[in-house]
Amino acid sequence: MSTAAELAQLPQRPEAPRQTTEFRITRPQIVGPDSPEAPFPILLAGPVQKGFGRGGKELGCPTANLPDESITPISSVAKTGVYYGWAQVLPPKDGKTELCQDDIRVLPMVMSLGWNPFYKNEVLTAEIHIMHEFKSDFYGYDMNALVLGYIRPELDYTTREALIEDIEIDKRVALNSLDRPAYAKYKEDSHFDLSCSVNPS
Ligand code: ADP
Ligand code: MG
Repeated sequence: MSTAAELAQLPQRPEAPRQTTEFRITRPQIVGPDSPEAPFPILLAGPVQKGFGRGGKELGCPTANLPDESITPISSVAKTGVYYGWAQVLPPKDGKTELCQDDIRVLPMVMSLGWNPFYKNEVLTAEIHIMHEFKSDFYGYDMNALVLGYIRPELDYTTREALIEDIEIDKRVALNSLDRPAYAKYKEDSHFDLSCSVNPS
């Protein structure tokens, strides 16, 4: 049994505010300053892990999960919510993969940083949805990401439809925001591997 003092020391999950229709219709189409400001850009890298079956694919939004140790750069400086940036899935060293050359480009992404229900909401998890139709899954592949801005806080949804609608808006806001020159240029950042290729088998 935990004592009250021990419980008080556990990080507490703050209540997520309720999503409202007013919030949705007043959402800006571009977020963040004209060029990324501290703490951005935040660099993340690690192998893609199996997630916790929170229904990414069923929501039309598969999310590639990074291991706990790979997300320290963001969990230590940033708040929970939805972010945007660029991501790249790297082919295996020998180039043998189901993925095609288009799949290993630097691509736009939205990332959710949230409390992980699997660990009783005591650790954060980062999940990245890449805005691209991949030829196959890429569990175990290395993924690099550059987080450039914050879109919105985590919200509590009463319906699945409202959640799906907000995810669609997040993707549009991310694309609009990344389209600005000071954000677009990070596609060529040295954090990414711009010369990698897949072996035609
Ligand atoms: P999990 O709970 O294992 O994370 P998801 O339903 O979120 O399951 O699916 C995530 C997996 O789907 C990723 O690890 C990746 O292999 C694959 N995937 C396919 N397309 C995408 C995409 N566009 N963005 C992110 N992951 C994708
Ligand atoms: Mg996932």
